[in-house]
Amino acid sequence: MSLSLLRDPSALEAYARDVSGLRTVPEAVARPESAADVQELLRMAAMDGACVTAAGAQTSTTGASVAERGWLLSTRAMARIIDIDPVARIARVEPGVLIGDLQRACAPHGLFFAPDPTSEEECTVGGAIACNASGPRTLRYGPTRAHVRALTAFLADASEFTARRPGVEKNTVGYQLAHDPVDWFVGSEGTLGIVTMAELSLLPLPPRVLGLGVPFPDEPRALAFIVAARQSDAVHPRCLEYFDADAFGIVRTAMDDAAWAPRAGAMVYLEDAGDDEPPLDAWLALAERCDANAGEVRAFDGEHALREARRMRHAAPAAMHERAAPFLPQGGRRMSTDWAVRYPLAAQALAEARRISTAHGVAPAVTYGHLGNGHPHQNFIARNPDEVKKIEGALAETLRAIIAMGGTVAAEHGIGKVKSKWLGLQVGVHQLAVMRALKREFDPEGRLAPGNIL
Ligand SMILES: Cc1cc2nc3c(=O)[nH]c(=O)nc-3n(C[C@H](O)[C@H](O)[C@H](O)COP(=O)(O)OP(=O)(O)OC[C@H]3O[C@@H](n4cnc5c(N)ncnc54)[C@H](O)[C@@H]3O)c2cc1C
Repeated sequence: MSLSLLRDPSALEAYARDVSGLRTVPEAVARPESAADVQELLRMAAMDGACVTAAGAQTSTTGASVAERGWLLSTRAMARIIDIDPVARIARVEPGVLIGDLQRACAPHGLFFAPDPTSEEECTVGGAIACNASGPRTLRYGPTRAHVRALTAFLADASEFTARRPGVEKNTVGYQLAHDPVDWFVGSEGTLGIVTMAELSLLPLPPRVLGLGVPFPDEPRALAFIVAARQSDAVHPRCLEYFDADAFGIVRTAMDDAAWAPRAGAMVYLEDAGDDEPPLDAWLALAERCDANAGEVRAFDGEHALREARRMRHAAPAAMHERAAPFLPQGGRRMSTDWAVRYPLAAQALAEARRISTAHGVAPAVTYGHLGNGHPHQNFIARNPDEVKKIEGALAETLRAIIAMGGTVAAEHGIGKVKSKWLGLQVGVHQLAVMRALKREFDPEGRLAPGNIL
């Protein structure tokens, strides 16, 4: 049992920030080691009337894993992989397991967990469930939601709640939103309950995976290639990741390879995977048709090379965090967009977003991300509160344009505290009322993760 509440200032400070740059010092920190600990801590919190915010590895970019008030409950000491059933292709895990550790445990069984946030070596399964995280491979396999079969959570009143997907292929029992409570918890950002166990679906590792880095002279041609790849019958990408000129520069530095396509204006990293040999010739033909820098295409073949490609992909957000770090003490921070549109509209949306930020006098963003899903991350560095305000102005206008194109304000990082002001842009009054009703049902006193989402 680990039921003591840490209250010394250095312990509180250690949990006061997530990656959003927000800093709020919790009143106390709890580090439960089991579901029974979580239940007891929630009982204690209920008696005290204390709020409780769950935190995994605190890689949230939206302030979701810092405690606006009350206690912070860290799940890092609940990091057991309970079991892996290779026949049923199921893993049962505690919430504090890092996704990277889960992948390493599954690999000897010839299996993998499909969600692959770029932060997989730093983020927990509980955090991925609570944010419905996704990653490059989401293009083929869908986000975390699609891979959670069942979960156990403890609610604000310390009662246990178990949800299991019904598994039936037909169901006409009333409103669809009440069919599957697993869906309520996936993406709920700690506001409905604390997840203590998840049962996850696993997939067989594809025997053949080929990665290609395809440089282009400019952004329009790179984005046209992504659309063509999605619409082609000859190729079957499992990821299509975009890097603008600046982001490609970060990649070159990470790979210590200044000579790779030095004049390219953009780069697309793709993977093709399956039982058969990936169609390299078809990919090269498509790249050539889209005016790629054909002589500079780089193949990532084999496990070592694919790991290198993941490191390259991770370098982009990591470098942006490093660039922002010196400005944190004076109120600056990294500001990253998470909007998405239908993939054929991505080029138009990105051009409009760039036009808007220039009109607001904002320095150009470094842009990369999951353009195969119509989902770029524009990364701005605000050096001080004035620049934060200016960028927020540009973002507000950008997000209105994105909503007008039928897009979303938050495709994978959730709403948290930083983006709750944008929720009303996308969600109508009836949808908001339904969300509030669900919150009231599970947490009538509003003590779980206050400030997140609503
Ligand atoms: C370099 C970098 C790259 C990233 N790349 C991606 C990416 O590709 N795709 C993506 O989707 N995200 C990405 N992220 C964002 C982030 O890593 C994900 O949202 C991740 O899923 C958060 O996991 P975590 O363990 O850090 O959770 P935390 O940040 O600690 O928490 C996130 C949310 O989950 C809740 N929570 C945590 N554990 C529980 C639990 N047991 N029960 C209930 N609620 C809980 C918290 O209250 C909070 O609301 C990236 C972040 C960084 C820093």
